Order: sequence, then C-alpha cells, then structure tokens
Amino acid sequence: MAHPDSTLITHIGELVTNDDGGAFAARNDAALVIAEGRVAWTGPASQAPAADVAVDAAGRAVLPGFVDSHAHLVFAGERSAEFAARMAGRPYQAGGILTTVAATRAATDDALRANLARLAAEMTRQGTTTLECKSGYGLTVPDEARALALAAEVTPEVTYLGAHVVPPEFSADPAGYVDLVCGPMLAACAPHARWIDVFCETGAFGADAATAILAAGRAAGLDARIHANQLGPGPGVQVAAEAGAASADHCTYVTAADVDALVSARVVATLLPGAEFGTRHPYPDARRLVDAGATVALATDCNPGSSFTSSMPFCIALAVRDMGMTTQEAVWSATAGGARALRRPDVGHLGVGARADLIMLDAPSHVYLAYRPGVPQIAAVWQAGHLAARPAQPPSTDLHLE
Ligand SMILES: [Zn+2]
Repeated sequence: MAHPDSTLITHIGELVTNDDGGAFAARNDAALVIAEGRVAWTGPASQAPAADVAVDAAGRAVLPGFVDSHAHLVFAGERSAEFAARMAGRPYQAGGILTTVAATRAATDDALRANLARLAAEMTRQGTTTLECKSGYGLTVPDEARALALAAEVTPEVTYLGAHVVPPEFSADPAGYVDLVCGPMLAACAPHARWIDVFCETGAFGADAATAILAAGRAAGLDARIHANQLGPGPGVQVAAEAGAASADHCTYVTAADVDALVSARVVATLLPGAEFGTRHPYPDARRLVDAGATVALATDCNPGSSFTSSMPFCIALAVRDMGMTTQEAVWSATAGGARALRRPDVGHLGVGARADLIMLDAPSHVYLAYRPGVPQIAAVWQAGHLAARPAQPPSTDLHLE
C-alpha cells in the first residue's frame, strides 16, 4: 500500500544502511521507501512496495547523509595567508585563532549569518545532512551568545565554546576568563546551546580549567565534548572520560592509557584529518583506535584557520589513505560514528524509522568516495525526506560501469 507523499528509490546498486548494530551494513540491488520524513522500508528492489513518487537510482549507491559532528562556522574573515606561510614552514599555534576573533567581533550579524549560510549550504551539497556548529570566535558575553543564536538558525547541534582560547584582554588573568566562561557567559549562552566544549591544549586551557568548565556546563544542562590531544600529548582525553563527555575530538596524540579511557568510558574518538592536512601534522592512528574497540567518528573541523574544508568525502579519503581505515570503516565513522558523537540515534543510518537523511552517489558503491578523491560525486541529497540538493544532475541512463 502506498504511503501518502511517499518516495520509492529503487534500483540502488549499493544501499548502505548501517542498521546492523555498531557496524557498516549494506545490500546490493536494493530499494528504500521514504514516508513522512522517515525511512519506512528497505529491502530487495524486486520486493519494493509502490509509492507516490519513484526515483530510479540506475545502479547508483545510496548512503546515510554524512554527520559532521565538529565544525566552527560562525566567523568572519579568512586566513589563507597564514595557511600559505605554514606550508612554507611556519608551525601552527593555537593563538592564530585570535585573528579570527578580531574579525568576528567586528562583523555585523548579517555578515556572520551570510557566511554561516554559505558554509552550511556548501556542506549540504557535499552530502552532510547533520552538522554541529560551535561558537568560540566571540569570547565576550554578547559575542558568544550572538554566535550561538546564529548557529541555532541552521542546526540543533549547537556548542558553546567560550573556552576556545583566552582572549587578549584576559592575557594577564586567564583564571578570570575561566570564571567568566563558567559564570555570566555560560548563563547567556546556555539557552542557545545543547553542548559545551573546551580547547584543552597547551596555549589554550589546562586540565583543571577544562574540568571546571565542563562541570559548569553540565550543571547548566549542557552535555560535554572536548578538543583534546591535538597538538601534542595532554590531559584532554582523561578529562573527557571523567566528565562523561560524548566525544573527545582530535585524539592525534594519545597514549595507551588514553585509548583505554576512550573505550572504557565510551567516549567517541572524533578524528579530524582536515586539521592534520592543514597543519602538516601527522594524522591520528584510526587503525589503533578501531582495533582497541573505540568508537571512531570522522568530522571536518571546518574553520578558517587549521582546516578550511567542509567536505566529508575528503575526510573519508584521508582516513582511508593515511589513517589505516577500510572504506567501510571510514564511511561508518562519517555517518553512524558522527551520530554517536552527537548522541543522535535518529541519524547516521537508514534503518526503518531513521530520519530520511540520505545521499545518492554518482557511483555504484561507497568505495568511490575514497577511490576518486576530490571528485564531486554527490548526485542528490535528501534531508528528512525532502530533496535538499542536486549538485550534479545524474545522467538519465545506467552507469554502464565496466
Ligand atoms: Zn575544532
């Protein structure tokens, strides 16, 4: 029986469902039915029920939309000169963030909103259907609250990152800034946010400050996540485990004890290879984390300083090529893994009842995301069952791949 306003996508060459507990799952020669914004049915194309609208995938792959669980999209200005200098040999330091802070404070609401909307649309065109967005370039009470209110216009996954870096006006009194972050700034920001985050790193915030900031956030109803162990070994992962954080992000320099803590405390390790690409640091060892039993997510860390990519396919390609992941693991981490990092059981998979967030590739399998790096292959994107983007009109004939 047809559902009202239902859509059947059939002749799917490979349907990645991720509906097999914690693992990649897919079937060939498949079909999927969307009804009322949810996945209503999946199975063999030969057994597909009728629907109001039918879409012929002609052998293309269909995957869950990407879940980008780590992005900094509310900012003004750009730092291409800094990137070029870094590629010429200058090291990356956390203080570069202050360049963007100055530009963001000086920007109008409309300028910030326009840049945010442009980046969010850019993500959608590349297959991202759930995105997280942080503050962290305001670092005053009104500028942080404004950033979060703007972020909430594009996503429910809004993260208060007042503790991104100590702003220059507090350089002589970093403890005073932590008090502000945990006090008046938190009070102004909590109504706009779901998450609290802290950049726990040499040059940013240490273990005691990070612990206090996450505890204050949790007391205000925000769940914890953290920037940890990006630029060198440090306490961030242990802070995350003790705070019950959903995710420890970066995890580039982790000890055996850190890996144990991620596994035993069930903290998702969110790897952000765009940052290593953009800073020429060594990539995190995804293979080691997966083999230890950690849950791994992949995200872009889209920001104007260290990782100005919005492309989840690019991150998948890096993870496969340089971080020891299989193509299946990387795609799982970019979809279901990101959903776990955001504690979102409704996205990242295409089990019956999931939000109908899905992408069609102009390719027959998920492998092509890493096999053809840098090539636009997103043929169509559905968000909650609605066609959200059609970046590359697929040809009307079959793929005829040999
Ligand atoms: Zn970040």
